[in-house]
Amino acid sequence: MEQDERELTQSNPAHAASSGRWAMHPMFWGAVAVTGGLLAVYLAFFHDRGPNGSAEAAVSRLRLEDIPFNGTRAYEYLKQLVAIGPRPSGSAGMAAQQKLVAEHFAKQGAQVEFQQFGVRHPVDGSTVPMANVIARWHPDRQERILLCAHYDTLPLPMLDPVDPRGTFVGANDGASGVALLMELAHEIPRLQTHLGIDVVLLDGEEFIFDRNDRYFLGSEWFARQHIAARPPFRYRWGVLLDMIGDADLQIYQDRTSMGWRDVRPLVEDIWATAARLGVREFIPRKKHAVQDDHVPLHDIAGISICDIIDFDYPPWHTQGDTADKCSALSLAKVGWVVREWLASLR
Ligand SMILES: [Zn+2]
Repeated sequence: MEQDERELTQSNPAHAASSGRWAMHPMFWGAVAVTGGLLAVYLAFFHDRGPNGSAEAAVSRLRLEDIPFNGTRAYEYLKQLVAIGPRPSGSAGMAAQQKLVAEHFAKQGAQVEFQQFGVRHPVDGSTVPMANVIARWHPDRQERILLCAHYDTLPLPMLDPVDPRGTFVGANDGASGVALLMELAHEIPRLQTHLGIDVVLLDGEEFIFDRNDRYFLGSEWFARQHIAARPPFRYRWGVLLDMIGDADLQIYQDRTSMGWRDVRPLVEDIWATAARLGVREFIPRKKHAVQDDHVPLHDIAGISICDIIDFDYPPWHTQGDTADKCSALSLAKVGWVVREWLASLR
């Protein structure tokens, strides 16, 4: 995943001033109170900025025990995936992960299928075997929801300041979305919905060794197969989850998703669900324009899909993207919002 632009919209508190001729008037003290209040708002605004200087205050008081989604178990899944080690496309780590997730989804009642394809290695030209994992619940239902995450990890920590050829385990960038979907899978069979649900783990999101290598190979393959197959069902909505495990969680609305007229209502609905639940980390404002797996799924397959992504993550693409930077609480918050949004669909 990469971003097109970075823009932070800040609310600029009004500059209140009192003039001399107000000094003796009772309204002067009212003005003092208003100015003081604005100053307090202003200070709170700047005081609460995040560690990278670009985040505003958006921390709910929710504790893990307040949230009816099992973030603890989701975080255990995250650690289990990270413990495999690096999981880039075509690697032994990826094979181990494929076995783990396929068994997991089958155990939760899904019909599991591997959508296999091959891609030319951008460095040595060999053929790299790739596969998207598709887990379907209620495969007979013609109106469906697509929930996806990429499950490959970046081959090398390209942005690591110390060793860009070191070890990358992708705790947030890779494992977090997969772990959340693994936990959600426990709940899908008893979810109150008439819609079918497909959980898809996408391969080759970032099998890149150079910034110019092609991203989103699995989502592009899935999109092309979807169009070619002319399936008897349609996806009403799609949701992509990427980098949602950051312990310092703040999820702005993705500008790319918001720029698509068919997707905008979906984004607004999910953020409204978060507001209803008091999950303030879903910030109802746009920030980054993200290029991610949702782009081929939307542009090639015509699926109305949004990206839920927390792009403010200092260890991004470094060796520091490890499980200790993520939390059960963040997974619980995002998982709860997604499940409640699913349950609200009629
Ligand atoms: Zn990445």
